[in-house]
Amino acid sequence: SRREEDSYDHFFKIILIGDSHVGKSNLLSRFSDNKFTLEFNSTIGVEFTSKTLQIDGKIITLQIWDTSGHKKVRPITDAFYRGATGALLVYDVTKHITFVNIQRWLADLRNHADPNMVLMLIGNKTDITHEVTVLTEVGKSFAEKESLYFIETSALRSTNVEKAFLELVDRIYQNQI
Ligand code: GDP
Ligand code: MG
Repeated sequence: SRREEDSYDHFFKIILIGDSHVGKSNLLSRFSDNKFTLEFNSTIGVEFTSKTLQIDGKIITLQIWDTSGHKKVRPITDAFYRGATGALLVYDVTKHITFVNIQRWLADLRNHADPNMVLMLIGNKTDITHEVTVLTEVGKSFAEKESLYFIETSALRSTNVEKAFLELVDRIYQNQI
């Protein structure tokens, strides 16, 4: 008998990266509630959430990996990147340094990850309109320069969160069929 988790047409691993406090975990919990935790060791915690959806009548199982813990240390392990087909690179539109650091996250990604991985840049916390320090146009033009898809979100208000994940999944799917 087939186990429930084996009954899919496609399996996509997606990783969430970006500085601490940009809203990665809240973006993920907005998108899905089914949460499982994996601790690789005491200093680097990685957890993933699984979610199943359908595209073109095909069952797609997503395994979305997030990093936990409060250290500013880059939680880069081979296990984290291994097999990932998509990445959400998140910055906080109210914290310019988190946007600057995307450059470093991208470099790490390009060193470790599959070159065919679909990348989406996310400017999160658009609800804090009076504190925006990274303008939409700035995020957008950086994304164009680096060949990343781009979207701005608010995990707090649920703005564009589902759209961000679904667009990423759709691009991964289009790449694989
Ligand atoms: P992570 O470290 O990247 O996983 O960030 P978290 O998801 O833990 O969020 C860090 C902080 O930012 C928390 O206090 C969240 O409540 C807050 N936060 C996350 N997303 C948003 C958002 O879209 N808008 C606002 N205003 N706060 C947010
Ligand atoms: Mg987190």
